[in-house]
Amino acid sequence: MAVMEKHILATGYNGAPRNMADCLELGCKRELQGILSGQGHELCRGLHAEQNVIIQAAVHGVRLEHSVIYCTHQPCVICAKMLINCGVSAVYFAQAYPDPLSESFFAEAGIPLTKLEPSPEPPCRMPITPTAS
Ligand SMILES: [Zn+2]
Ligand SMILES: [Zn+2]
Repeated sequence: MAVMEKHILATGYNGAPRNMADCLELGCKRELQGILSGQGHELCRGLHAEQNVIIQAAVHGVRLEHSVIYCTHQPCVICAKMLINCGVSAVYFAQAYPDPLSESFFAEAGIPLTKLEPSPEPPCRMPITPTAS
């Protein structure tokens, strides 16, 4: 998700290009060939969420420069290069991903890459209604 001043500019999720079957339906070539995480990205028909954010922004003519990116996972090295060239100002992610090269690219480009830690407080303080039993 790309955000600018608390406004969502574009969103994306992992998936095959439009009008194409997804890895979830066909089985992913990378998994079928036993390729390790972080390798052989070109064999997968899926686009990463970060790539789809960039594409959605381009399709709709939205500028991502200076936006902040929020991802479920730490961006891979391919997405890192693409996000750096979009001119994003910061990247936040929830789950670490084994890619020190991607980390070093963000560091070299001067873009802060931050792992979000879950809040110790529950996100919602609504009282829980006991269910009748
Ligand atoms: Zn795949
Ligand atoms: Zn990626």
